Amino acid sequence: MSDTPKSKPMRSHGRVAVRPTLHPRDLMASSPQLQGVWTAKIITLFPQAFPGVLGESLTGKGLKDGLWDLESIDLRRFGEGKHRNVDDTPAGGGAGMVLRPDVLGNALDMASAGTPLDRARWPVVYMSPRGRRFDQAMARQFAAAEGMTILCGRFEGVDERVLEEYAIQEVSLGDFVLTGGEIAAQALLDATVRLIPGMLGNSDSIEEESFSQGLLEHPQYTRPAEWRGRGIPEVLTSGHHGKVEEWRREMSEKITRERRPDLWKKHLADKG
Ligand code: SAH
Repeated sequence: MSDTPKSKPMRSHGRVAVRPTLHPRDLMASSPQLQGVWTAKIITLFPQAFPGVLGESLTGKGLKDGLWDLESIDLRRFGEGKHRNVDDTPAGGGAGMVLRPDVLGNALDMASAGTPLDRARWPVVYMSPRGRRFDQAMARQFAAAEGMTILCGRFEGVDERVLEEYAIQEVSLGDFVLTGGEIAAQALLDATVRLIPGMLGNSDSIEEESFSQGLLEHPQYTRPAEWRGRGIPEVLTSGHHGKVEEWRREMSEKITRERRPDLWKKHLADKG
């Protein structure tokens, strides 16, 4: 095998070479290629699931306005043989199927074209229940990068060697098991993309919302002033900004203390 000439790829890889791999923009083909914009590259067996809910509301408008970009990379394209197989049975036996490292490797190679190798500038993430739990701090890190690549698993997951070979960071949405990484990737992207400069008109709302100061948010109210016999806390209609601030702060602290003793402890420690 080692004497196979470079110009003549091994039979099993022949198909990959002739695939139109330079055209990953399955769904967004009509939008112009955006230079220098925060970009998510998603490796998935279900490219049609993107942008999904990210195509709506603020994230959708940002996508249309070119504040961020999305490329879905169809893993099936890199599959082997007539049926473009992407998976195989687990070594050692057991239920289900595992995504193959050679197939994933080719997709990751294509995703990495034109992206920085430095993982701080371009994180490469595998959505996985074994990963570090996603949180607001991670969203901030990802948003501060130039973009990121996200690998969505299916079946029993991916061959471990791929994670090692590409220094892939595993990120979990929480302690539960989904059937695939696509929904997790969209949740991660929603939280991340809204932090990209220019995405939220009012950056105050980022500074005041839950987790920004390590606290959960205070209760919110709007009109009507009375609804089913329930009023709005008087201080909020007093027009006294200082008092409003104070009330919100107190409520934030109270709610965090009661609901999330872990966050409260950390908040106190951080304050010193
Ligand atoms: N056998 C694996 C679960 C596979 S679930 C295990 O026990 O760890 C199939 C795919 O769904 C995974 O490859 C992953 O990409 C995705 N997934 C499932 N649960 C997830 C979670 N909590 N967070 C992020 N991704 C998840």
